[in-house]
Amino acid sequence: MSRVYNFSAGPAVLPEEVLREAGEEILDYQGTGMSVMEMSHRSKAFEGIIGDAEKALRELMNIPDNYKVLFLQGGASQQFAMIPMNLMKNKVADYINTGQWSKKAISEAKIYGKVNVLASSEDKTFSYIPDLKGLKISDDADYVYICHNNTIYGTKYNNLPEVGEKVLVADMSSDFLSEPVDVTKYGLIFAGAQKNVGPAGVVIVIIREDLITEDVLPGTPTMLRYKTHADNGSLYNTPPAYGIYICGKVFKWVQNKGGLEAMKKINEEKAAILYNYLDSSSMFKGTVVKEDRSLMNVPFVTGSDELDAKFVKEAKAAGFENLKGHRSVGGMRASIYNAMPTEGVKALVEFMKKFEEENK
Ligand SMILES: *Cc1c(COP(=O)(O)O)cnc(C)c1O
Repeated sequence: MSRVYNFSAGPAVLPEEVLREAGEEILDYQGTGMSVMEMSHRSKAFEGIIGDAEKALRELMNIPDNYKVLFLQGGASQQFAMIPMNLMKNKVADYINTGQWSKKAISEAKIYGKVNVLASSEDKTFSYIPDLKGLKISDDADYVYICHNNTIYGTKYNNLPEVGEKVLVADMSSDFLSEPVDVTKYGLIFAGAQKNVGPAGVVIVIIREDLITEDVLPGTPTMLRYKTHADNGSLYNTPPAYGIYICGKVFKWVQNKGGLEAMKKINEEKAAILYNYLDSSSMFKGTVVKEDRSLMNVPFVTGSDELDAKFVKEAKAAGFENLKGHRSVGGMRASIYNAMPTEGVKALVEFMKKFEEENK
């Protein structure tokens, strides 16, 4: 068996310790004589699994009691619809456009109401976060929406828009648990698991209780109401049980690393190894303005499509997988999520140096 360094943007690398533990429990979860995959979601054992997962997440993120934690399905993309269906009481919302995931959220919200795009970085291929000073939040907006880390373009918010009394909604799919978050600043945070916390099939929603109401847009299906899932502890129907089990293990892994402060420090040090090299290289260049660089997704180019392709091919042969950039940006992208070991980034940089030397 040999494992590669997997720089995929998602589904992405998971901590090896978590995979090993899950492997050990695959036939017999803690004396139950069955796999978590085979277990009733109404069983005592699964109650323990989902309860422990929620508890660990609450501790990690310091989630206040007036917020619910939901484990849902449909991916982050389902939230693009679920959010307006549940929160658009006035049928108006403000969005900031920082890339393809916010664009998709905007298109979806337009099905349900009026969308004001307060700011956009589309003019420069989303290589920066728009200036948040002087943003004019709409008086009648039901919420203000941001994509906190832009997986494809490699930008992140280091500051939040001033939304006053308005509800701030954030897509944290690609930087969930990468650093501490002040949950109280948000009305709703959501994250697809497959970037930083688990296998595909689970989306985590952290929502303030006063936003969970019966007053949803007409026609909202039962399964797409936050209230349905909040009232049933995410067990209204069969949840993505195995995925929740793995997420729970990843939460504990992050706790064992020292929590989100420690995770942030590790992530900053890890990202700096790659960014420092990019800043010093005469071949490879980062594509994002320095102030807004993501700690999780690092896009870079050589400036030549041919050389980019050669690099991706040779990197793959050397055991560095999934470095090809998103088709809308080109070049390369290294996703260096929580579970990517520092040695993986160091090894990548060594490989890049060698490639630069050989292809001068
Ligand atoms: C991957 C991703 C999505 C889409 O996730 P799905 O689970 O495939 O729907 C949405 N937002 C961000 C920021 C992402 O990185």
